[in-house]
Amino acid sequence: MFESYLNSIGLSFTNNELSTKFEVGNSGGMRRSIKNNTLILIADHKKKMYSNIWFDDVLFYTGMGKNGNQSLDYKQNKILKNAKSLGVTLLLFEVYEKNEYIFRGEVELSGEPIKDIQEDINKNEREVFLFPLVLIKNATDVHNIDALRKKKLYSKYSNQSLYLLFKKQKNIRERYITVNTYYRNVVLSEFVKRIANGVCQLCNQFAPFYINSVPYLESHHVIWLSRSGSDSIDNLVAICPNCHKKMHYVEDSCDLDKLLNVAIENKYSFLKMVEGFS
Ligand SMILES: [Zn+2]
Ligand SMILES: [Zn+2]
Repeated sequence: MFESYLNSIGLSFTNNELSTKFEVGNSGGMRRSIKNNTLILIADHKKKMYSNIWFDDVLFYTGMGKNGNQSLDYKQNKILKNAKSLGVTLLLFEVYEKNEYIFRGEVELSGEPIKDIQEDINKNEREVFLFPLVLIKNATDVHNIDALRKKKLYSKYSNQSLYLLFKKQKNIRERYITVNTYYRNVVLSEFVKRIANGVCQLCNQFAPFYINSVPYLESHHVIWLSRSGSDSIDNLVAICPNCHKKMHYVEDSCDLDKLLNVAIENKYSFLKMVEGFS
């Protein structure tokens, strides 16, 4: 059984295929198979109500319950929380496009569930639980694929939706995350590229090529994260791949000065762009 699971990592299934192959029902975000002693977890990134957010290698997965405060004693939440002692295998799927369930593999809880505040189905604020999940196998590969998916997804967001996501991430990050790897904020990087609007912020040339009709630029931390630079908008610029290589290989102080100033301007452009969004 598990061998056949492993072969499917990275593959995408329709909802019907998923329920046939993994022997679970065809609705709900958490689906139990008693027969296989598995719990299928579906992180649907298109759904506004449940927010499932990756921080580095940890997925904060929102528990079950659409109305009022969530409870850890409720149905699948209880199974998820006690998966280890119950011997339940947790299998993760992610959804970015309609009816496309991408199988990520087996996950486990990396810590206790944490409380968060989110809106319920009636738009009332309520308590939810976020389960920190990590992939057991192939985490690195998945992470790379995931970064591309995320970029594609975020590029479709309006400024306002992107800002809401940024605030949500920031919130969770400030409260719960201690990071020892360099976490890069994909959302901020999308913002800084919007601000640059296709023009390299160092050489001022237009991006050298397009990907999916979007001019290709890269985001760069002016003070590198490895030198204690911050992952914030006033330390981020969008530059062309040539300039990016240059910044990492040639440490020209004029370039550095220019980009430090550009990053400060980026901060003001960002504030202007999100003005009025709550
Ligand atoms: Zn350039
Ligand atoms: Zn860089």
